[in-house]
Amino acid sequence: MAQEKIVILGTGGTIAGQAQNSTQGVGYKAGQISVAGLLAAVPDLSQLAAGRTGAVLDALQIAQIDSKDMDWPVWRSLLQAVKAGLEDTATRALVITHGTDTLEETAWLLQAVLQPTKAVVLTCAMRPATSLQADGPQNLRDAVAVAAGDVPGVWVVAAGEVHAAREVLKVHPYRLNALRSYEGGPCAYVEESRVRWLGRAAVQYPGWTAARLEQLLACEELPWVEIVQSGSLQSARAVQALLAAGVQGLVVAGTGNGTIHQAMEQALLQARAQGVSVWYSTRCLEGQLVGLPVGQGVPAVQASSHEIAAHVIQVEAEGGLDAVLLPPSKARIAMMLQLACY
Ligand code: ASP
Repeated sequence: MAQEKIVILGTGGTIAGQAQNSTQGVGYKAGQISVAGLLAAVPDLSQLAAGRTGAVLDALQIAQIDSKDMDWPVWRSLLQAVKAGLEDTATRALVITHGTDTLEETAWLLQAVLQPTKAVVLTCAMRPATSLQADGPQNLRDAVAVAAGDVPGVWVVAAGEVHAAREVLKVHPYRLNALRSYEGGPCAYVEESRVRWLGRAAVQYPGWTAARLEQLLACEELPWVEIVQSGSLQSARAVQALLAAGVQGLVVAGTGNGTIHQAMEQALLQARAQGVSVWYSTRCLEGQLVGLPVGQGVPAVQASSHEIAAHVIQVEAEGGLDAVLLPPSKARIAMMLQLACY
């Protein structure tokens, strides 16, 4: 039998970033150092993996981008590489190096469409590799420790914390612990490469099938979905402009429990009447919509049974069919999947 391996996939990000000098923590260029270079910066990484699992490390460069520029071709390559690793009996676990800006979306996508039975661990950094404060090497070491623990699911490791794919959000533009689980706190802590799990399994989406995954991977592009936010002084103009330009779906980051400024309501009803998908979410940083936010002038939120059926990717596992249980950044990706594959 081939020797087992932990596959490290590089996609770029600050973890692979380089600045002019070691005191520069902003204004650097992300996605410069190869994944092999990142591994070389952690002297005992191979020994850590081998000591825990007997596995060797295998590095593969998928992309070399700033994750703010994440696009479908990179996501598709990443999905294909992770899928191949999950199917390969010699691959024990996977680690992905990624930028922090869109990491929450990639993590959720991987969990939702692959529902891994192995550990798939994303990691990142808030300082470039050249910085005095470089946090990438420790994060990578911690990620390998989590990968070696074989807990199935997509996990995000940074600043000594392990977050679940559905909960993780970037909450700070600069500090080293910039990622947070939006409710309930981290799932585990990594302390001196020991992983202390606190509970909570990765969420499963039984409505998502292998056939849907094939359909997704065959897509040349994903449907056009935008997030529109409701707030003080809101007008209908952004929604109207998007409709005129042919948008296929809208995720509304509403106030509070998904409420919408009355000035925008008619435009959203119009969107639905035109066959554009409209989902409601909240701009609140924590919590999920509670019940159907009907009344209060938001009739557009009454989902048709077709749309409710389409929500299974988010809500089936929860046993509820009442609302989008994701923050807007992830609900937008969920809607793209729904429009492409349901
Ligand atoms: N702009 C960077 C990226 O997302 C930020 C980071 O990695 O921290 O690739």
